[in-house]
Amino acid sequence: MKTIVSIDIEKMVRENIKRLTPYRSAREEVNDEDAILLDANENPFPVGYNRYPDPFQRNLKSCISKLKDIAVENIFLGNGSDEIIDLLIRAFCNPGKDSILINTPTYGMYEVCAKINDIMVIKVDLDDEFQIDLEKLFAKANNTKILFICSPNNPTGNLINQGIVLEILKNYKGIVLIDEAYIDFANSESFTNYLSAYQNLVVLQTFSKALGMAGIRMGMAFADSKIISILNKIKYPYNISQLNQKAALHTLEDSNYKAAVETIKQQRKWLFDQLIQLSIVLKIWPSHANFLLVRFQNPTEVFEFLKNEGIIVRDRSFEPNCEGSLRITIGKPLDNLLLISCLKQYERIKFN
Ligand SMILES: *Cc1c(COP(=O)(O)O)cnc(C)c1O
Repeated sequence: MKTIVSIDIEKMVRENIKRLTPYRSAREEVNDEDAILLDANENPFPVGYNRYPDPFQRNLKSCISKLKDIAVENIFLGNGSDEIIDLLIRAFCNPGKDSILINTPTYGMYEVCAKINDIMVIKVDLDDEFQIDLEKLFAKANNTKILFICSPNNPTGNLINQGIVLEILKNYKGIVLIDEAYIDFANSESFTNYLSAYQNLVVLQTFSKALGMAGIRMGMAFADSKIISILNKIKYPYNISQLNQKAALHTLEDSNYKAAVETIKQQRKWLFDQLIQLSIVLKIWPSHANFLLVRFQNPTEVFEFLKNEGIIVRDRSFEPNCEGSLRITIGKPLDNLLLISCLKQYERIKFN
């Protein structure tokens, strides 16, 4: 694909980051497996984890590279996507001065990370169908440094129209971050296919959802090598532990997460069909993720009732355009069955 948008990364990065001489970890240059390592002040008597881990996670990245057909130089791994969001903000936004743009309602960490770094947050509400209104967006996008698009979006579950995203990529002057945490549950291509065309594009994915590894904290960013270099320059040298690199590699090589994803997608349909029959359910948004956003007649009461029955869902009713709505993660088949039977019990108590 030919390059449509090229960026001058030097111009976009904060001055202090540009000037920074990064910490050089002892293990950066080592490729000789048999070398005698007297360089990092480790305890030489092995207990399994006595050596510092590979700061660039080369084995894991080369596995991800083959799987996704993306060059290693275009991959960055973080301690969860959350670390990557924070690093991008710190690389490109000057505290007390710059701003980011988010499309609300959306994932809460964009705003939290920005605020921790003293970065202003410009919010543009999604429309009634939770799509981006380009006119409204570009009216507010001027001078913002990073534009966050979450697709499929959390908490609404919908994909943002591809044509709209491409318009943004073509016309926005900063970094466009597309968060694809839920892409494996969607019937849609990843925007990683556009990396060579748009140098301002960063695609985020994670081990926390479809891959079933939320416990290890592993996020992936895919971007132009110039952006990846900046992230490598400012990350903690050993941001991904040896245990986590191993666990992630194992998941990619051996786990049958694809079967789990298929089950979750079938269960999403089953749960939708069951919920829509309940009289307390006013609306369910079509979902391309592993959750449903459901509008109830009495959301607070339903939330509390479920909680008392030991079922925890997420109250999103205070988010823009989400009045009355609870976000329900698709569980195992039995979890989903119990949820439906609890809600039916609530209906019986309520209306009899
Ligand atoms: C769950 C989720 C993530 C994952 O974050 P990690 O730090 O990788 O666990 C990222 N983005 C969105 C929108 C999410 O909902």
